Formats: sequence, C-alpha cells, structure tokens
Amino acid sequence: MDFKSLGLSDNTLKALKRKGFKKPTKIQEKIIPILLSEDVNIVGQAQTGTGKTAAFGLPIIEKINDEKEIKALILTPTRELAKQVAEELKSLKGKKNLKIVEIYGGKPIKEQIYKLRGANIVVGTPGRLLDHIKRKTINLKNLSYFVLDEADEMLNMGFIEDVEEILKHTNDDKNILLFSATLPREILNLAKKYMRDYKLIKV
Ligand code: AMP
Repeated sequence: MDFKSLGLSDNTLKALKRKGFKKPTKIQEKIIPILLSEDVNIVGQAQTGTGKTAAFGLPIIEKINDEKEIKALILTPTRELAKQVAEELKSLKGKKNLKIVEIYGGKPIKEQIYKLRGANIVVGTPGRLLDHIKRKTINLKNLSYFVLDEADEMLNMGFIEDVEEILKHTNDDKNILLFSATLPREILNLAKKYMRDYKLIKV
C-alpha cells in the first residue's frame, strides 16, 4: 500500500515526499481512506509514534478549504503536543493555502487573538481554548472536524470537563475524531455521549 492509493492529492503527495514518508503506517492506511470518503466519527486506539497525527491531519488538510473560518479544532493535553501537532500539519499541508494556528497557555493572549484571524485549523490546549471562548475571541460554530488527541491523558490531567464545555460551543454537524492509547470507561462514555455512532479503529 502506498500513499497515492489512499486517495491523497498530488500536493499532499509532494509534501509527504519532502518529509521523507515513504509508506503509510497502519493507522494511516486504515483511517485516511475512510475520512476522505465519508463523514464519520472515529474512535482510534493508537499510541504516540504510530503516525496518528498524519492519519487525521492528512484527510483534514484534503477536505477543508480556506474560507477564513475555523474548520478543524484539535485539542491536545499539553503545550508540547499542541506545538508538535501544529508543526506536523504545517509541514503536511504543502502548498495548500491553509492557516494553522496553535493556541496554548503561557503565551500572550493578545498575540493569539491576532493570529486567530483567518485561521482554518486550530491546535490547542483546553484551558486556553476556554479562555478564548469566554472572551468571544474564537468562533467554533463552523467546524467540520473536532479532534481529541490523547484523550486518556486529558482524562488523567482532569481536562474532561473542559473538553465537554468546549464541545458545547461547537456546531452539531461536525465529525468527532477521538484518539487514545487506552480506552477506559470514561473515554467510551464520552464517545457515547457526544457521537451518535462511530467507527472503532485499533492498531
Ligand atoms: P505521531 O504518532 O503522529 O506522533 O508520529 C510519530 C512520528 O512518526 C512523527 O515524527 C511523524 O513525523 C512520523 N511519521 C508519521 N507517519 C509516518 C510515515 N508514514 N512514515 C515515516 N514517518 C512517519
């Protein structure tokens, strides 16, 4: 199996070549074709290092367009992961005109408000995201994708209530993609509560 047969565009294939990714990982093979062909919620059980960022990132990059609206929100438990995910997406988008912005605590909020203008993909930590929601400096009503990365870590760090609060400020007709190394009851309950149905994908 190669990236081309997964249905990715020439622009993305070029970006992958530049990154030196020769063939898709297991989770990429499983998830990319599904997300490219249908609107679907996914619970993906995958550890870090499996290539899950590109598994959700590549289809998001392919499916959304530059309409000066936030079309994808990716929540991560830590600043480091937010930075890492944003960097990976920026390097995967190739020449496509998409604005990818990272939002996390410890950075001046004013600077972030400015950066959020015209953003298409936002990667952030729950606390700072909620801060922007309360200040009404972010609009999450046009999402095509809501990604919860390392959901079990979110749970361990006590972020699940924040995540639920953020979900309340998003539109209903989005796809939810939840990734977690483990699937404890709390995570499955969260999936049940917010996704009518979903595909469970394990690697
Ligand atoms: P992740 O699990 O998304 O954190 O990815 C782990 C590491 O694998 C990152 O450094 C990625 O850039 C890299 N990676 C992801 N997909 C591939 C691939 N298909 N081939 C080679 N490296 C990859």
